[in-house]
Amino acid sequence: MNPSDTLLPHDAPWVVVKFGGTSVSTRPRWDNIAGIAATHLAAGKRVLIVVSALSGITDQLKAIGEAPADAARCADLRDTIVARHHALFGEMGLSRRNGVDAWMAKLDQLLADPRRNTGELAWQAEVLALGELTSSTLGAAYLNSLGLTTHWLDSRECLRAEALPNQADWGKWLSASVRVRHDPQTAAALAARGNVFIAQGFIARSGESATAVLGRGGSDTSAAYFGALLKAEAVEIWTDVPGMFSANPRQVPDARLLSRLDYAEAQEIATTGAKVLHPRCIHPVRDERVPIRIKDTNRPDLPGTEIVWNTQSSAPSVKAISSRKGITLVSMESISMWQQVGFLSDVFEVFKRHGLSVDLIGSAETNVTVSLDPSDNLLDSDVLARLCTDLEAFCRVKVIAPCAAITLVGRGMRAMLHRLSAVLAEFGALDVHLISQSSNNLNLTFVIDEAVVDSLIPRLHALLIRAEVMRIGDPEIFGPSWRELAEDAAAVHRTSWWRRERGKLLALAAESTPRYVYCLDQVREQARGLGALGTVDRWHYALKANPHPDILRSLHAEGFAFECVSWNEIAALRRVLPELPAERILFTPNFAPREEYRAALAAGVRVTLDALHPIAEWGEDFSGRDIFLRVDLGAGRGHHDKVKTGGAQSKFGVSLSEIATFRNLAREHGARIVGLHAHLGSGILDAQHWRSVYVQLASLAEQFNRIEVLDLGGGLGVPSRPEDVPLDLAALGAALEEVKQAYPQFQLWMEPGRYLVAEAGVLLAKVTQTKRKGEVHYVGIDAGMNSLIRPALYESWHEIVNLDRLDAPPEELVQIVGPICETGDVLGNNRRLPACQEGDVILVAEAGAYGAVMGSRYNMREPAAEVCL
Ligand code: PLP
Repeated sequence: MNPSDTLLPHDAPWVVVKFGGTSVSTRPRWDNIAGIAATHLAAGKRVLIVVSALSGITDQLKAIGEAPADAARCADLRDTIVARHHALFGEMGLSRRNGVDAWMAKLDQLLADPRRNTGELAWQAEVLALGELTSSTLGAAYLNSLGLTTHWLDSRECLRAEALPNQADWGKWLSASVRVRHDPQTAAALAARGNVFIAQGFIARSGESATAVLGRGGSDTSAAYFGALLKAEAVEIWTDVPGMFSANPRQVPDARLLSRLDYAEAQEIATTGAKVLHPRCIHPVRDERVPIRIKDTNRPDLPGTEIVWNTQSSAPSVKAISSRKGITLVSMESISMWQQVGFLSDVFEVFKRHGLSVDLIGSAETNVTVSLDPSDNLLDSDVLARLCTDLEAFCRVKVIAPCAAITLVGRGMRAMLHRLSAVLAEFGALDVHLISQSSNNLNLTFVIDEAVVDSLIPRLHALLIRAEVMRIGDPEIFGPSWRELAEDAAAVHRTSWWRRERGKLLALAAESTPRYVYCLDQVREQARGLGALGTVDRWHYALKANPHPDILRSLHAEGFAFECVSWNEIAALRRVLPELPAERILFTPNFAPREEYRAALAAGVRVTLDALHPIAEWGEDFSGRDIFLRVDLGAGRGHHDKVKTGGAQSKFGVSLSEIATFRNLAREHGARIVGLHAHLGSGILDAQHWRSVYVQLASLAEQFNRIEVLDLGGGLGVPSRPEDVPLDLAALGAALEEVKQAYPQFQLWMEPGRYLVAEAGVLLAKVTQTKRKGEVHYVGIDAGMNSLIRPALYESWHEIVNLDRLDAPPEELVQIVGPICETGDVLGNNRRLPACQEGDVILVAEAGAYGAVMGSRYNMREPAAEVCL
């Protein structure tokens, strides 16, 4: 009998483990979940696994709920959602798809439901709930297939939504709350059924049989509800970061891991900005005194952050500095308010009537200023305008936005004021709109203009440490810095797939070299990382990077559309994916002949023009057509001058000064410009780059009449040299989201190539000869620049190892060269390798992008062949 089938003793403790979207999106991640659950089970604990939807799915379901009338878009989203779940099902190697298909059928049913026409909130909640219902169904099937008997539990059986007083209607359905206490009967009933359960985060029962969802961070909240309901020994939130930090590490790399916090401090930090834990999930466990542990899925050995009843640390100190952007201040001025009975009651009644929850309050004899936080309120200009009109019956109203709230969090704030002088001095030069000190003595908040906050926070963090109010020397409270942890993680990151697959790679090399080998799992993992950034409405794969048919098929299954730069690329793509609708292909040629544009237009492919010539000389071809315009924003970026595609020295795009001429020509010929495009270079690791492109394109688009889409191009880099810091996807997501909020009217598209495939490919070669010339030692291999031209063309750096002697210590400094008659035929300069011998297998890493596809038959040598693992 399976050990997970024998019921544990009735008093065995419960552990609730929660996994978010990225953690449930691939088979290796599910193996990880199985490992964590099995470890708890082996320690005699019952396990309840709470899961989110696969990454990106909730955003796609949300997009359906928000644009129910756009049939084409809904159909597109529906297909992407089904394909994602089927792809994971296939990857899991499961045999019966009924469970998943039943939920997908439910999605079709909801799309055909008449409630869709009105976008009814209850209908939206049902649509949203499908993400978790499907992921948990897939998870249960997979865990059982591994031999871990796991019972699927419908969270709606246990969690019942309760309307809060004055809660707006959307909140009841889409941001619902549940009141739970320890329920020994439910716990005992579950314990009698089994040891391991899987349930959905984010969803609850509303009324008798309807479904409500818990809003953002809902899965954490569900885990906390279950933790309280079962009075668990602990709730473990497994995530992609090591815990909570003394500041947002993306703003402050020296922020410290917070090892231990009490509930009140954690609540304050979560409420005032930290995104790791949703503020709503602390209250339920605090009542039952169930500890929360935040753990890093990638590094389970790290201690993480523990949130407990009492940290034993009562000395006043600042634990964290946090910030929230998008704050709106409403300033209410009236001389008649002084000593006027009921003034506050009157104005707050207006906020209540508009369903707005007030956060901070500052008051004077003639003025009351309050802040509205976008995470608690559905703030749009209409709501604000209506609020102001109603408030004007009592006072003069001024709205100040966008603001940011900076908060210092820690016990005994009032007892530390005298030590905060240097911190307060920083605010001296700024326009501080409001200061608030919380009555629980846990926070001190300053509201300032949003624009200065990113540069201010690192300075303030350093000053708090210098003033010793943030006592980072206390190991009970503070752990290592984000920077230290990131360096360790970079080492882990470099433990690439090809190290794990060394045996297979050696066997492939024994058959023949030179050879490119691709790992499709790695392609999928990269795709899912991007897919999880819900802000991007459509991802395209720039297939110039690597058009291998299996890669095209994999990315199609991951919901990617495609970007092509030649008619032959379009034709090759359609051969591999004959069912692909033409509108999922973007054609972005440069100096291509007229026939290619005509063929693409005839095929129904979306065409981007990047010069005046086509529209000026062949204008009739574009008459009545929707076209995109590629703009040169004036400066390129990238890992090498030859990959920068902006600025006068680059041949791409229409310069800003020529846009008016382009528009006139388009108008003359009856072509509609519906999209703006900019791709300024490749191999960019700075997330803020796309923010700046996005802002520039969006403000340009506002000068046009019918722009629907902004396409920010590709260029997303992957680290190659050991010192490179990987592109911070979360920062990219946050930056894009910020701009999207300001320009929600435009769809956002992107088209990366390299990011998806670079790390998925390696080039295998064999040592042909070795040679010494004076001090210089050459190792010759059978792959040259005709197989991989990037080092010669772009001075690109690829990790190179001797796969036969992977663990041997490096002994020699060598030049790794190919067999081509060119001095530039060098794949790696000055590399430290163990002594290499003829026949040794050499691996050139990160060769999946712009590798094989740039191969040539120079010297009449065949370039490396390609194979997928
Ligand atoms: N889009 C366009 C228009 C491009 O020219 C390129 C690369 O040349 C890409 C996307 C993809 O760039 P990357 O592979 O750096 O993401």
